[in-house]
Amino acid sequence: MKSKIIIFWFRRDLRLFDNAGLSTALQHGLPVIPLFLFDSDILEKLTDKRDKRVGFIREALVKMQEQLTEWRSSLLVKHGKPLNVWKQLVNDFDISAVYTNNDYEPYALQRDAGVQAFLESHGIAFLSLRDQVIFEKDDVRTASEQPYTVFTPYKKKWKQKLIENNTLSLAYPVAPHNKNFWQHEPLPIPSLKETGFTPTHADFPSREIRDEIIQKYHLQRDFPGIAGTSRIGVHVRFGTVSIRDLVKRAFQLNETWLDELIWREFFMMILYHFPHVQQRSFREKYDLIEWRNNENEYERWCAGETGYPLVDAGMRELNQTGFMHNRVRMVTASFLTKHLLIDWRWGERYFAEKLLDYDLSANNGNWQWAAGTGCDAAPYFRVFNPVTQQEKFDSDFIYVKKWVPEYATTAYPEPIVEHKFARQRAIDVYSRAVKG
Ligand SMILES: Cc1cc2nc3c(=O)[nH]c(=O)nc-3n(C[C@H](O)[C@H](O)[C@H](O)COP(=O)(O)OP(=O)(O)OC[C@H]3O[C@@H](n4cnc5c(N)ncnc54)[C@H](O)[C@@H]3O)c2cc1C
Repeated sequence: MKSKIIIFWFRRDLRLFDNAGLSTALQHGLPVIPLFLFDSDILEKLTDKRDKRVGFIREALVKMQEQLTEWRSSLLVKHGKPLNVWKQLVNDFDISAVYTNNDYEPYALQRDAGVQAFLESHGIAFLSLRDQVIFEKDDVRTASEQPYTVFTPYKKKWKQKLIENNTLSLAYPVAPHNKNFWQHEPLPIPSLKETGFTPTHADFPSREIRDEIIQKYHLQRDFPGIAGTSRIGVHVRFGTVSIRDLVKRAFQLNETWLDELIWREFFMMILYHFPHVQQRSFREKYDLIEWRNNENEYERWCAGETGYPLVDAGMRELNQTGFMHNRVRMVTASFLTKHLLIDWRWGERYFAEKLLDYDLSANNGNWQWAAGTGCDAAPYFRVFNPVTQQEKFDSDFIYVKKWVPEYATTAYPEPIVEHKFARQRAIDVYSRAVKG
């Protein structure tokens, strides 16, 4: 007879420390099988088979496997459509309960609802915990119990709740309960090739952040030529760091950095309550903007050949590394939507393919912010000037020269459009949509 077990299902929480669902599962009393599944529904949508993010996930699994091997346990790694994998697992094991951590994206909510219904039909409990955020869904609401749609009051309430609930004292240890993992010889982790991808030997940012970076964040964060931000995004995205650890450090070291972590939760909350933003503008009227959507200009923007050096440097940094500095993300996004009048969804899609730290809610929220179509967005008549932005934030051309070595030579293209003309054209087109 098979003995009863618990399964813990890893998704955006690829770590063996401070993990809410895993810690809780390990205290249940039955042996816990740590499971990861390469979701073929997600992987099939990734058109670039050299996608570095799949390599990042695999590296994180290998690291966890090393630790689990020391604890005489093993990951169980599967590949397929989630429901099919679960059908197989229900056949293979006598599962008492499945634990996991909440995932808030529309696809994940639908996937989890399907898996939960299936498991429950077999008498198996499906328990999902809050882990990747401090506050989720309806935790932070207005006085009239509505979701916030403006960041500043949301942030104020968020901080108030953090203190009132003593949230910083929350911790979910894993190591002290390691005896409760199932005892098993190390099982193989599929190679990238087996999952349909090609290794790229990419270098990923470290998950360690020096105190100094956080302490000086408010002074340095706007200058793309300085290593002044944490570069922690990809780790936050896949949960190889704990958000509680980051918030604790932010709380002690730098309020501006804390605010950035709150922006992340704000956009997650917005996507959860207003899922239409995935397809449409948060503000309906903005769907009436008559985009020009010139494909040739879009290609030049993607390739970093617009003739505006800060825009081009940003796009080339993105293409080569999977990262782009936040200030430059704002400038490139504004340039695409306002100077070129290309639909923000085109830019959002391009970033989604390229960014290592890609996150649906943050990407969508920030694109809609830059395009002026979002909930708490830059007003449409505020059009970033890519030249003055460069003069202000990269005055000695450190960043530009790094990514656009031919800048200031005859090989560098002329500006794709004249700034003053483009600015006025954007304001005219936007105001026609907004004012009707
Ligand atoms: C057009 C556009 C698209 C973007 N797409 C994404 C995306 O897909 N994924 C993503 O995580 N961020 C996105 N951002 C936000 C921001 O640019 C990145 O989070 C940041 O540049 C990552 O660098 P870092 O890790 O050094 O962050 P730091 O500046 O050190 O900040 C620490 C962490 O806070 C969070 N954070 C910071 N700023 C924001 C913000 N504005 N919105 C939400 N979270 C934030 C991130 O998790 C980040 O890693 C986007 C911004 C713009 C303007």
